Amino acid sequence: MKAVVLEKPGELVLRELEMPVCGASELLVRVRACNICRTDLKCATVGQRDLVYPRVLGHEIAGEIIAKGSQVARHRVGQRVHIHPGISCGKCQYCKKGQDNLCDQIKIMGFNFDGGFQEIIKIDQKALRSKVVNLINSKYLTYEEITFIEPLACCVNIQDRLKMNYDSVLVIIGGGRLGLLNLFLAKAERVTKVILIEENEGRRNRGKELGFDAVFSGREPDLLDQLKRCTNNRGVDVVIPCCPEPAALDLAVQILRKRGTLGYFSGITKGQDAYPDINQIHYKEISVVGSYGCSVGHSRKAKAFLESKKVYVKPLISRRVELEDLATGMDYLRNGDGYSTIVVMNK
Ligand SMILES: [Zn+2]
Ligand SMILES: [Zn+2]
Repeated sequence: MKAVVLEKPGELVLRELEMPVCGASELLVRVRACNICRTDLKCATVGQRDLVYPRVLGHEIAGEIIAKGSQVARHRVGQRVHIHPGISCGKCQYCKKGQDNLCDQIKIMGFNFDGGFQEIIKIDQKALRSKVVNLINSKYLTYEEITFIEPLACCVNIQDRLKMNYDSVLVIIGGGRLGLLNLFLAKAERVTKVILIEENEGRRNRGKELGFDAVFSGREPDLLDQLKRCTNNRGVDVVIPCCPEPAALDLAVQILRKRGTLGYFSGITKGQDAYPDINQIHYKEISVVGSYGCSVGHSRKAKAFLESKKVYVKPLISRRVELEDLATGMDYLRNGDGYSTIVVMNK
């Protein structure tokens, strides 16, 4: 079977790997689509903390069960599935509370073991026990749409922690894929006012079309006044920066109202020292809420949002590439070309 292997940062190679064998307590899943994430791009370019080489990247996986061991009761060959990328221990204090994304023993697909940029993935007993197989019930969801479950689940994690109300004013900084998924999710949860701050004019215009109630550039000199006007003097309750620029964190604390909440969700590029004015957190009594990845429960919830069509991701499908063209797909991402590029495998 074919796989794109990252031999070391900067070196992606198409290889023929041995076909995995399905053990009695295992499943084989044929990957049908795998969305390329910024994390994949970062790993392929400069490496990553948890990465072991050689490694097959890809953790936003949709596929079909093609083989099942005799001891596996719950699944059938032919079922369409999303594969949750984290395998946790199931025993620690976090796992017991359903916070398995915080498990100290967690192994992540595409980091600690091979991910979705290969034709077939083996789901072993430990992965099955960790409930990584997220069964798709709706026949209307395409494999391409199913790949959005993982990034949407990361948005579910931060928004669950933020506990917004329908009348909360939410500002999203960065109108890329995760900014829009956060918008769609907030709207599905009936948050009435969601505002975009984005520097690219094309993305601002598209953001408006896709549902933002107002859009601004962060460079507008009277931004704070404009935000006040556009919220009837209420101000901004919650900000979720969805971009890697450290400056977005500073902007976030500047525009939040007193007692507002910063949702620290996407991480920033290291080595750039533009940290927020931390005293604003003190003066304005700002709360900071962090989130990292998503749990199995968040994946199930994200799937339900897609199946019920409360979240509709088709406008975010920009480009498709074949497995052998993964490097080209990463270039699209690097150049900010479209919202997402999906590796599709039809054969
Ligand atoms: Zn991702
Ligand atoms: Zn655990």
